[in-house]
Amino acid sequence: MANQIPLVDYLVLGEEPHLVANECVACSARYFDRRNACANCSGTEFRKADIGTEGEVRAFTIVTFAAPGVHVPFVSAVVDCGGTSVRGNIVNVEPDPEHVSLGMKVRLVTTNVGADDHGTEAIGFGFEPIS
Ligand SMILES: [Zn+2]
Repeated sequence: MANQIPLVDYLVLGEEPHLVANECVACSARYFDRRNACANCSGTEFRKADIGTEGEVRAFTIVTFAAPGVHVPFVSAVVDCGGTSVRGNIVNVEPDPEHVSLGMKVRLVTTNVGADDHGTEAIGFGFEPIS
């Protein structure tokens, strides 16, 4: 099996791929990027928190212009996964307003972003509709 590395460090691969947030120990605010201090309470202690792999679309936009080499159109969205907001693309769906809607139920999927000369695959993530 090819080596796989996550495109972002908060994506955990394996049998059941999922996202992991840094959660403030004091106030439970969650962040996907590295923080030295909590933006909400200035706390400096964080713990890892697994994020649920199913959620609901809270906001989305259909992107029709992007950098060269980026396939358009695609759907960029904010997904509420059990109370945690996650930014990601909606995949495996027609990228138009008839197929994407607010409140739509989605689940995390991994996407192969590309491989290097040694066959190591970069793995990203998106959300697909739960049908
Ligand atoms: Zn905090």
